[in-house]
Amino acid sequence: MNDSILGLHHITAIANNAQRNYDFYTHVLGLRMVKKTVNFDDPNTYHFYYGNETGTPGTILTFFPWEGIGPGRNGVGMATEIGYDVPQRSLDNWAGRFREYGVAVGEQAERFGETYLPFTDPDGLALSLIVAGQPDDRSGWETEDIKQDMATQGFHSVTLTLQKIEDTANVLTDIFGYRLLAQEGNRYRFQTDAVPNASIVDLLEEPNGKLGRNAAGTNHHVAFRVANDAIQMEFREKILNSGLQITPKINRDYFFSLYFREPGGVLFEIATDNPGFTIDETLAELGNSLKLPKQYEASRAKIEQRLPQLKTN
Ligand code: ZN
Repeated sequence: MNDSILGLHHITAIANNAQRNYDFYTHVLGLRMVKKTVNFDDPNTYHFYYGNETGTPGTILTFFPWEGIGPGRNGVGMATEIGYDVPQRSLDNWAGRFREYGVAVGEQAERFGETYLPFTDPDGLALSLIVAGQPDDRSGWETEDIKQDMATQGFHSVTLTLQKIEDTANVLTDIFGYRLLAQEGNRYRFQTDAVPNASIVDLLEEPNGKLGRNAAGTNHHVAFRVANDAIQMEFREKILNSGLQITPKINRDYFFSLYFREPGGVLFEIATDNPGFTIDETLAELGNSLKLPKQYEASRAKIEQRLPQLKTN
């Protein structure tokens, strides 16, 4: 059993309109909705999970769509860019597809010798598609018009913007087992060898950067992956011993979670592989129906009535 941090587990962001979010991620980007549930702390808000076929950790992007919430602002103390691996030679096709759908897409550029295509989702969330330097064997989810030669394969990296990187870097290296791989300008690339993919965290140092504001189009937290909740609790001890505060273990039905704010201000989570998304739906049915945690099942009718209608064909 690998008792390390196994790269990224999921990233959670904030959206405004639920339908627009669903259409963009399932149709334009071609991800699978692997779970449709509610915010466990606010059951009148959806919680959407998008990933590959099984919702493998390292492929999962989740959203709280808060209808009518204003736009946030990317900045210091936040995760500011999400990178997905895509196959070789797919970026031109992606650029064309994004233009066809009116997506705000930038120019292809290079970082650390890898070509990437930056774009934003309908709420302004910053993402990029990256042709990684290291091979990625993960299969993407196929849709009618996105096949394996193009489909996203899961996370490549996440970028955190910080006033200074030192204390955050220490969490990554001393507690999580990452090492500094390379530096380009004010961007410092950290990587763990524990997993072949979803293994990179870039720290972007902006000493005079403005603080970010968390609302639509920004990331809420970054979850790192561990194999199970026994290993998770060992990390809880290590984080407490480093002098940081951390929550008790919380049951999120599909994984167990711990949350702590790293010294640079970004909300980190440690999340488990167990029990996974097929605990309450079969693999074929993932994401098809609204799933509620048992404490809300008695109020299902009322909750369903309050949630925005979602067309999912
Ligand atoms: Zn989370």
